[in-house]
Amino acid sequence: MRDMINIEKEEFQEKLKSAAKELGLSLNKYQFSLIYSRRMKGYNTKIVLHRFHKRIEFRFGYKWKEVGWEIQKGAVQALLCRLFKKNKKTMSISLLDSFLSNVHSSYLVQEDFEDDILRESFERVNGKFFNSSQGISRVRFGKPSKTTLGRYDFDSDEIVISSIFKKAPCELLDYVMYHELLHKKHGYGSSLKRQYHTPSFKQEEQKFPDYKGVEKRLQAFISHN
Ligand SMILES: [Zn+2]
Repeated sequence: MRDMINIEKEEFQEKLKSAAKELGLSLNKYQFSLIYSRRMKGYNTKIVLHRFHKRIEFRFGYKWKEVGWEIQKGAVQALLCRLFKKNKKTMSISLLDSFLSNVHSSYLVQEDFEDDILRESFERVNGKFFNSSQGISRVRFGKPSKTTLGRYDFDSDEIVISSIFKKAPCELLDYVMYHELLHKKHGYGSSLKRQYHTPSFKQEEQKFPDYKGVEKRLQAFISHN
């Protein structure tokens, strides 16, 4: 199934790089790409930073293909501003703002993955269990802890996974990723008790295929690493 058009032509590289330059960002180390995806709704946009591969990927809903470059450039710049915490208003960003207020949609998403292993796991789990409906600001590896296997930070919308999972089987990494995404989905639970693993949380967690087997393999992995 071909649902996207991937644009990595020289011409686009230059366009994207000069958009970044206007913001005062020097991102020469990075490879840029822009994808128009049929899977993304309407005028949604997303920026994905692959730190390891020094790649910045823009994903735009398919509708963007028909939009003039100046406005697309505004979206590129708005996403870069978010990712690199810049506060700059360019001509293109102003054009984007008025464009989006006309189409009644303004949805800018940023995702930042430290590693491809984490991105792939996130996308597998998100696709399989959440119908790809979950977004995330950042996923990274933390300390090689055996007690805190992962955590989800509500304020920064960030998942941190213990680095012992760098060499774990996919299944175990996915299981931890799933657990953390359930935290995002379920929120704080009862605000009085701040109960994290509520009965409905646990019930949903057990939907992971071969839940009991995975739990055993996870314990075995932890004790051998
Ligand atoms: Zn938990």
